[in-house]
Amino acid sequence: MSYQIIDGKAIAGEIKEECRVKAEEYREKGIEITLAVVQVGSDPASGVYVRNKKRACEACGIRSLSYELPEETCEVELLELIEKLNRDEAVNGILVQLPLPGQIDEKKVIQAIDAKKDVDGFHPMNAGALCTGERGFVSCTPAGIIQLLKRSRIAIAGKECVVIGRSNIVGKPAALLLLAENGTVTVCHSRTADLKEVTKRADILVVAVGKPKFITAEYVKEGAVVIDVGIHRKENGKLCGDVDFDSVAPKCSAITPVPGGVGPMTIAMLMSNCIASVDE
Ligand code: NAP
Repeated sequence: MSYQIIDGKAIAGEIKEECRVKAEEYREKGIEITLAVVQVGSDPASGVYVRNKKRACEACGIRSLSYELPEETCEVELLELIEKLNRDEAVNGILVQLPLPGQIDEKKVIQAIDAKKDVDGFHPMNAGALCTGERGFVSCTPAGIIQLLKRSRIAIAGKECVVIGRSNIVGKPAALLLLAENGTVTVCHSRTADLKEVTKRADILVVAVGKPKFITAEYVKEGAVVIDVGIHRKENGKLCGDVDFDSVAPKCSAITPVPGGVGPMTIAMLMSNCIASVDE
């Protein structure tokens, strides 16, 4: 079967360009969209993510303010900074790069961010809004999955959608978004009794299991659309996803590659949330 490769890099580029145009329109009205980026410690992976996010801000004409705190920062200090940024009217969005060092309670920090500035969409108010179909920030990676499908003209309504993974940042919000788009949604996890039996029913299979090349051809129905959220670095330094692309792709009608699929969408949707933060 010939399959479509869903080009996340190109779609993310389109979204970032739309954000750049909107940011410029706001600037002409005297509004400078501003994202505060907070990093605690010097975890190299976090460093790369933060740099990429700041670079995307620059490309989209969004001002980014950097707060780099030492590894030994205590919870109170971080909460005080967040309180200051919450009050600062010039700051539209606040992003605290996760994970945080062990002495800091991540949940407390996420809840301290003003929900109206929570561009990551992790605050319980925003998670709740997604659940009840109200307005709010949506977690960037799942929001990116929906954009990949929509902009590739893949219909969701009425389709059997299976999500593997139930994390708060990917699996659960992805399932809720697919439901909001009128998909018939099943969520699988580590206690799912017969994973293969469920995934083989999927017209749209979203894989966020966190295990390299876990999903092979026998998990996938002929003609399915497969969205691979996983990111893993192999021993040879190359990236791979949660899906064994070479065996799965020939069975699909469409599939996202790794790299160049879901990955670039996360930052594009962060930019989109920053633009939306002006109206919050
Ligand atoms: P996570 O918190 O580790 O969640 C993994 C989920 O997979 C859990 O719900 C777990 O079930 C389930 N699971 C584990 N083993 C399973 C099995 N054998 N069968 C069925 N389900 C199983 O991971 P995450 O944060 O959601 O991330 C998932 C993947 O996406 C990772 O590879 C991560 O690196 C990647 N990611 C990519 C981006 C991006 O920008 N592209 C963003 C975020 C994450 P239980 O709940 O029962 O434990």
